[in-house]
Amino acid sequence: MYALSKPAFAVTDVLAMCIGAISTSDDLVNRLNAVKNTIEANEPLYDTHATNSLLNLIVRRTDLGSVTKAELIALYEDHLSATRGAARAVYDAIKNAAPNKLCPLCSIGSVAHVDHHLPKSRYPDLSVLPLNLVPACHFCNDTKKARFPTTAGEQTFHPYYDAHLLTQRWITATLDYGAPLVVVFSVTAPTSWPLTDQQRVARHFTTCGLGISFGTNANANLVSLKRRLQRLHDPGGAAAVKAYLEEERDSHDDKPNSWQHVFFQALAADDWFVNGGFAQIADPQL
Ligand SMILES: [Zn+2]
Repeated sequence: MYALSKPAFAVTDVLAMCIGAISTSDDLVNRLNAVKNTIEANEPLYDTHATNSLLNLIVRRTDLGSVTKAELIALYEDHLSATRGAARAVYDAIKNAAPNKLCPLCSIGSVAHVDHHLPKSRYPDLSVLPLNLVPACHFCNDTKKARFPTTAGEQTFHPYYDAHLLTQRWITATLDYGAPLVVVFSVTAPTSWPLTDQQRVARHFTTCGLGISFGTNANANLVSLKRRLQRLHDPGGAAAVKAYLEEERDSHDDKPNSWQHVFFQALAADDWFVNGGFAQIADPQL
């Protein structure tokens, strides 16, 4: 996970682009103009609630005035995400805002989608709100699906608002000494945190399937690590292995919840592993 700046687009402008692309003879234009103020008023409301970690208080809707849920969702699908949509430039800018295309929800996958942080199926009136649109990888987007928060503790990490959730480490890795040896990830949020924040990071971990994506990357890395550790251990013993693992950990200490930092931390701290336990790592499949 990592934080991103808010998109530099106002919903007023995005909505105008979408409505402008609809034929003026279409009755939908009049019906959208009738609810335009409500859609625009969602922006400061969303901003305040997200800033205060209270997005669970945003009201879910099935329609807005005489505009149906399907028509609200079509604003996004026809004019924002559609390749030739009138507001496609906004979609592209939001999607491309992730440095190196790295997904801000997991810091593993490549950005492939724009995700509705609060799903458009439950909040159709937020379908074109830039603050609700976040770049995401396919795995996070697919795993998150249409989940939404019914309590404050159920809010997942929002890259535009939740940098405060990244200041301390809340993901832990442990070694599973079975055959083959693997690393397993779990959540251990700081107990000094407000209970809501502890619940939020646990919810994010589950909702985005981080146990799976972190485990997949870490265990693939474990296999390639085996020979390297053996070469260090032969002349330098456990101390050389531990020093190498700590150096790798420290090279990622600017991101304490990255799979790399958590992974190398767990390996370096395991006396059995550094004393030769690493030999239990499965050999690579050729
Ligand atoms: Zn992701």
